Amino acid sequence: MGIARAETWRSSRMIFCPTPCVSPGAGIFGYRGRFAPTPSGPLHFGSLVAALGSCLDARSHGGEWRVRMEDVDPPRVVPGAAESILRSLEVHGFEWDGAVMWQGRRDEAYRAALEGLVHAGRVYACVCARKALAGSAPRGVEGPVYPGTCRGRRPQPGKALRLIVPAQRVLFVDGALGRVACEVSRECGDFVLRRADGVYSYQLAVVVDDAAQGITHVVRGADLLASTPRQIVLQQALNLATPAYMHLPVVLDTAGCKLSKQTRATPLDDARPLPSLLRAAEFLGMNLEPVASLAEFWQQALVAWPRRSRFALRGKRLSRRSCS
Ligand SMILES: [Zn+2]
Repeated sequence: MGIARAETWRSSRMIFCPTPCVSPGAGIFGYRGRFAPTPSGPLHFGSLVAALGSCLDARSHGGEWRVRMEDVDPPRVVPGAAESILRSLEVHGFEWDGAVMWQGRRDEAYRAALEGLVHAGRVYACVCARKALAGSAPRGVEGPVYPGTCRGRRPQPGKALRLIVPAQRVLFVDGALGRVACEVSRECGDFVLRRADGVYSYQLAVVVDDAAQGITHVVRGADLLASTPRQIVLQQALNLATPAYMHLPVVLDTAGCKLSKQTRATPLDDARPLPSLLRAAEFLGMNLEPVASLAEFWQQALVAWPRRSRFALRGKRLSRRSCS
């Protein structure tokens, strides 16, 4: 498969301020990073790039690296995929700290966080039909902006629950992109914390889990960049610390779509881990000498990571692609 070194879409409404790149975590005591795949299929090259970037950033700062399975949304989970992902990570030489966290077993933590927000008057029930919203609301960074129609409705079982988002700008310094600014109330509106079918949202699960695992640094693909301002809003609502963020370039296939399990990206060849690792390192801007073993690869990559060439993300505007 041909791989384009390209960047994910960037919304013209997220503002990138021209400041120098900042390496997150440099000199910070107590670095803890994580890799958090969704077990909707086997590990592919795109997720290997994210795993490698987050692991190398953690290890090169003398930090810990955790693994979390984001299996919060049962319909997306493919039986056996989580085990296959963990096996692939192992044969590629990844070593994680502590036990794997499983979102599917953390309903109690999400329920407690949501309850706190309900008590604080930050949550309301939404009875709007998805179709009606899609037709009438203006489009934001990820679909229609919720106009706040149901604000004031009491939270109730069997209805979607939304967070009241304050009208203020979220600013953060991304380790690859520099300063990023976004006004969530205008770009997303009040977003869903629990769906009508009772499934907790990705945003709530990630924020609660990052805090529970004591994550200080999130290094992940830029396809999740649009989620970061919402997660910061939620951290603030829950009085949780905001980790440092770095968004890596996203691997696109020859058609210009993000490699993903949904687009049936080719799984990694677990029998030949070195060629994939070397390709991932190159994609991330590292120049490695030829290596003969996994141990040699990891040794070299750890040294090369802080010296990698800058990701070519900044200064380019990319249009949003439709890759359904
Ligand atoms: Zn509504």
